[in-house]
Amino acid sequence: MFDVAIIGYGPVGSIMANLIAIKGHNILIIDANKGTSPTARAINTDGEQCRTFDLLGFAEEVVENTGYIDKVSFTDAELNEIITQDQPLEIGAMGWPPQLLFYQPELEKIIRYSVESNKNIEIKEETILENFSIEKDKITLSCSSNGEISQYECKYLIGCDGASSSVRKILKIERDDLGYDQDWLVADAHLTQTVDIPRHHAKQVCNPKRPATYVPGRRGHRRFEFKLMPGESKEELEKKEKVWELLSPWINPDNASLERADVYQFHAALAKDWRIGNCLIAGDAAHQMPPFMGAGMGTGIRDAMNLFWKLDLVLSGRAGDDILDTYKAERYPHAKWTVAQSVSIGKIIEGICAQQEGKEFTPEENDGYGVKFPHLPSGIFEDASDEISGYPCPQPLLSRDGIKQLSDRVVGSKFCIFTRDGIPKLSNKAEKIIETLDIQIVELSEEDDEENRMEKIFSLYKLILVRPDRYVYGGIESLDDASKIIESLETSFCLKI
Ligand SMILES: Cc1cc2nc3c(=O)[nH]c(=O)nc-3n(C[C@H](O)[C@H](O)[C@H](O)COP(=O)(O)OP(=O)(O)OC[C@H]3O[C@@H](n4cnc5c(N)ncnc54)[C@H](O)[C@@H]3O)c2cc1C
Repeated sequence: MFDVAIIGYGPVGSIMANLIAIKGHNILIIDANKGTSPTARAINTDGEQCRTFDLLGFAEEVVENTGYIDKVSFTDAELNEIITQDQPLEIGAMGWPPQLLFYQPELEKIIRYSVESNKNIEIKEETILENFSIEKDKITLSCSSNGEISQYECKYLIGCDGASSSVRKILKIERDDLGYDQDWLVADAHLTQTVDIPRHHAKQVCNPKRPATYVPGRRGHRRFEFKLMPGESKEELEKKEKVWELLSPWINPDNASLERADVYQFHAALAKDWRIGNCLIAGDAAHQMPPFMGAGMGTGIRDAMNLFWKLDLVLSGRAGDDILDTYKAERYPHAKWTVAQSVSIGKIIEGICAQQEGKEFTPEENDGYGVKFPHLPSGIFEDASDEISGYPCPQPLLSRDGIKQLSDRVVGSKFCIFTRDGIPKLSNKAEKIIETLDIQIVELSEEDDEENRMEKIFSLYKLILVRPDRYVYGGIESLDDASKIIESLETSFCLKI
């Protein structure tokens, strides 16, 4: 019997499998297709996701194969800038570039190479999950492959099977619809000649006759999106001549090749339940958003980071399975914010289009692309008013044996304590929790964190505790509270001590 079966070998399923497998559990991945997705959908990721890639050992390879954007503008139909936001480029608090433009088939190959070198993972491609039945501690999957039906057993099932998730449907989970349904033509092209179009400047073209998006991807990859206008059909817009006509202000067949141009329906929706017993869903199966923020895949990778260590604690008998309820409690509000923020960028585009036609438009208070992701609503020590707890912990560089190392590489996939003042004598219970969870204690010396990424934290706290997903659990102002914060993990994460 497999510890975990994952339906879907897309970016979220493959990262989820990899993360749970590095904890030593055996995983089955099932996917209807064979090979990586032949075309790009996701194109943008960030430094937080790079930390996940780094945990799995391939962040550097991902970064080497990316480009960047230094500006995003909302423009009029003639591409005159109306609002422009500079994008941060420097390696920031996460220890990696803050945003990266990748090419999805290439990224998937990198992820899959890592998955396929992991002996704990078995992969069945060209295999479709048809149904499953649940007994007390066992789920039996019925799958079809080339007309043959086979069955597989697992303790936990995770549906990473995309927007039309079979797992979600079989579990009869409904979705909260955030009311944003639009059809857009998405075209991916590759430059074959040097072309005079912006190299690092993304544009939201607020043309009331046809809103459009331009994103310069890595190397010669260029992404274009065009809204379908009332009365237009998908077939009409997908015709090659029509696609080249839409692309003509930017590129033409003499200087670029077209990879594909397909109409996608953009939705804003979240599944109402993310866990039923031993069945869970993640990625697009749990949430869908229009791509204006480029955050759909990242939201799914955050799901995987939130879930893998909780599932590990349950599978290894160190936590009760109530910990799995904290998955939706923590991820749903965060994902809902991301969906809403993606919709609000769509609304800025619509508002500026209306303004171009002489209609009134007062932008809502919204930072567009400059927003900060929210903190976790629970699973933290006290509250997030310190603007530290519930947020990803910055990543200091540590000086070890004369070499500077990213702290994540010292910590691995464990809980961790960062302190500059050492650890006082702890209660027996706190000691037991440190041992049970194998909490890494990292004492920062004067040579560590020369970049001052932890400055704000240590100006408030003597010690902080960080979860395996790199989110700060909490900090204490006095080392006298060291046992208290460690002991509180027992109830926060249903530990069996
Ligand atoms: C135009 C566009 C642009 C985007 N841009 C970005 C971006 O810049 N950044 C970003 O982060 N996100 C972006 N996204 C969103 C991103 O592409 C998705 O969020 C991401 O691909 C979801 O990954 P997933 O693994 O959850 O699902 P998917 O990639 O959809 O994978 C699901 C897998 O499940 C398999 N499957 C489904 N049903 C079954 C079954 N019954 N049995 C077996 N296998 C099954 C499928 O074959 C598939 O391989 C964009 C999306 C679009 C459409």
